[in-house]
Amino acid sequence: MTGRPDEPPAADRSGEPLLRVRGLKKHYPITEGVLRREVGRVRAVDGISFDVYPGETFGIVGESGCGKSTAATTLLRLEEPTDGEVLFDGADVSAASKAELKRFRRRAQMIFQDPTSSFDPRMSVGESVAEPLRIHGMRDRDRRRRIAQDLLERVGLSADDVDRYPHEFSGGQKQRIGLARALVLNPDLIVADEPVSALDVSIQAEILALMRRLQEEFDLAVVFISHNLSVVREVCDRVAVMYLGEIVEVGPTERLFADPQHPYTRALLSSIPTPDPRERGRGIELTGDVPSPSDPPSGCRFHTRCPEIVQPDGYEFEQVHWRRVMDLRAKLDRGEVGRESALDLAAAQSTATAGATDGARATGTPPDEARAAIRRAFDLPEALTDERAEAVLSEALGLVVDGDSDRAAALLAKEFSTPCERRRPRAAAVDDGWSATCHLLDGSRRSEGVEPLPGRED
Ligand code: SF4
Repeated sequence: MTGRPDEPPAADRSGEPLLRVRGLKKHYPITEGVLRREVGRVRAVDGISFDVYPGETFGIVGESGCGKSTAATTLLRLEEPTDGEVLFDGADVSAASKAELKRFRRRAQMIFQDPTSSFDPRMSVGESVAEPLRIHGMRDRDRRRRIAQDLLERVGLSADDVDRYPHEFSGGQKQRIGLARALVLNPDLIVADEPVSALDVSIQAEILALMRRLQEEFDLAVVFISHNLSVVREVCDRVAVMYLGEIVEVGPTERLFADPQHPYTRALLSSIPTPDPRERGRGIELTGDVPSPSDPPSGCRFHTRCPEIVQPDGYEFEQVHWRRVMDLRAKLDRGEVGRESALDLAAAQSTATAGATDGARATGTPPDEARAAIRRAFDLPEALTDERAEAVLSEALGLVVDGDSDRAAALLAKEFSTPCERRRPRAAAVDDGWSATCHLLDGSRRSEGVEPLPGRED
């Protein structure tokens, strides 16, 4: 947490990390039949690596379903990892015995999104806050009570609240109680999973300020998980951006927000609402369907939606049209575009524009109209600016309208293949502690005859 007047000093990253995560994976098997034969896997977290230093706030951000919450529960071993290593203060948590795990859990606590469901409604607030002390062997009930009272005061509640019950508190107050409970064992690390997203905006600011104060007071490292980029920017020293189970960019928060290097980060950041009317509407629209983590795309997982996807060798036309050609190709591959749908589209478009009552299909749609209808449906121009690319696209559309979608798909796959779908990009260093995983940065495009970005002669 750096740069604001009310914040603790920046975390010292010159020493050893408190938490080191290497190649962490969490896959869920998909089973079928009475024998529960494994037929696939949901790759919720698929090989993530990062370090968290003492006193640091490390953010993990991404759309819902990207695997960030699974990353949290897996690194704390609330769920068993499928593979990878988690080192906490030098000790291997992923291979820890029961006793070692218990010691680890004293030092690493979790805060959940929904404070309501994380309390037992039959236990008083004091009992809930002190529960971890009892589990870890403190038998003196009065002492537990005194510690709970002290913590309730430190999180901005009253010592008298110790005998009240969770339903008597608001959402924000419950999250304060959740913080008190997380701190009761004096941990070194807190993993906070969307800790303020269930709260009103006005309360969010209070809880974030409280977390900052407590972080300094208790000298805590925090892994802060959120889909809310504004909140992440507010509280995190460094941030990792996750997409479909993988980290695509990691770096110092302010620099990454000011100059995002990965196309997905750029798209995410462009979607942050802004009060400046001149900046509104500048969001990068992501086309293409969100892929399933049970069947992630080949090569770069973002290639089915990436607005900056690398064009094939020998072609050069408007990037936005290239993206749309790839969207068409994907739908052809899935059998979602064919002669019938093209004719239906042409009929619908002709009815809409001419106001005709009998669609063009009923009177026999000319092939030109059907081809044009597909272009309009994918927002493609009448002709691509690259003549060779246009010839390929025209031929493919002709094949679709002639009823041979398979050959059209094969033609587009052969001519319009991109390194982004063929090869996994490598993480490329942008600067010290800052890297992004994209062919635009990793230098591999040059091997395919494509120039790197200006200023990136790596
Ligand atoms: S590797 Fe290609 S598809 Fe992936 S983010 Fe980079 S440009 Fe986009």
